[in-house]
Amino acid sequence: MKKEVLDKGFIEVIDKLGSDLTVVNSARVSFGKRKEKFDESDRKLVKFLAKNKHWSPFRHMMVQFHIKAPEFVMRQWYKHVVGIETSSSSSAKDHAWNEISGRYVPVSDFYVPLNWRRQSEDNKQASEGSIDDQESGNEIFRTAMEQILNSYQKLLDIGVAKEQARILLPLNQYTEVYWTASFQAIMNFIDLRDESTAQWEIQQYARALKELMFDIYPETTKIWFDVNSG
Ligand SMILES: Cc1cc2nc3c(=O)[nH]c(=O)nc-3n(C[C@H](O)[C@H](O)[C@H](O)COP(=O)(O)OP(=O)(O)OC[C@H]3O[C@@H](n4cnc5c(N)ncnc54)[C@H](O)[C@@H]3O)c2cc1C
Repeated sequence: MKKEVLDKGFIEVIDKLGSDLTVVNSARVSFGKRKEKFDESDRKLVKFLAKNKHWSPFRHMMVQFHIKAPEFVMRQWYKHVVGIETSSSSSAKDHAWNEISGRYVPVSDFYVPLNWRRQSEDNKQASEGSIDDQESGNEIFRTAMEQILNSYQKLLDIGVAKEQARILLPLNQYTEVYWTASFQAIMNFIDLRDESTAQWEIQQYARALKELMFDIYPETTKIWFDVNSG
């Protein structure tokens, strides 16, 4: 399962734990019961749990993703840190992030926007619509990128270490990570980032993630969004 995002990015599902039955079986262990087939009574139970904030059963489902995204998107994504990993006893057990290293691998991919958005007048951190002069935006961007990439390559050519040459590189550089998170943590990410005040680029990742969650856990995902949007 893989979704392309932006010009060169993607989200791919590497592994998953649990199914739509996981939530109800985790909840029903209280009564010593277990189901093999999801039915109408399970739909009601999942709805009740989601509506009444009984969230622990939703943390038994975990998904491991391979994500390729621009660095400025990942910086926002990294702020989501709770409920992500449960298997280790390390003090950083809430985080399960691993990332490609620009110390090992020369950076080669950069995000190129298709549209230059206008600064919003009433929201200092948002954009709205497009600027009229798209060609000037493209030209300024192209010139800056050419200069930066030339200089990066020249530093590598004269033997400078990748870990140091990369300090020139801008935030549109693509990075790759593995991210493992619980159903609840993923829904929290989607709630906050598939939303009009979030940056447009991270919204595209949140939407792709939402489609993947509908593919993996169709019943639970539908109920979660029905409850939280109504
Ligand atoms: C539109 C937008 C703009 C933003 N702008 C900025 C910005 O300018 N600067 C910036 O630094 N960040 C910014 N953020 C990031 C934001 O502050 C959060 O860090 C980020 O969205 C992660 O959300 P979270 O805390 O819910 O996620 P997580 O850390 O994954 O937490 C998940 C959930 O766990 C619960 N939780 C977390 N910690 C605790 C706790 N200690 N006790 C009890 N419950 C807890 C909460 O219910 C929380 O929602 C922005 C986010 C958005 C969506």
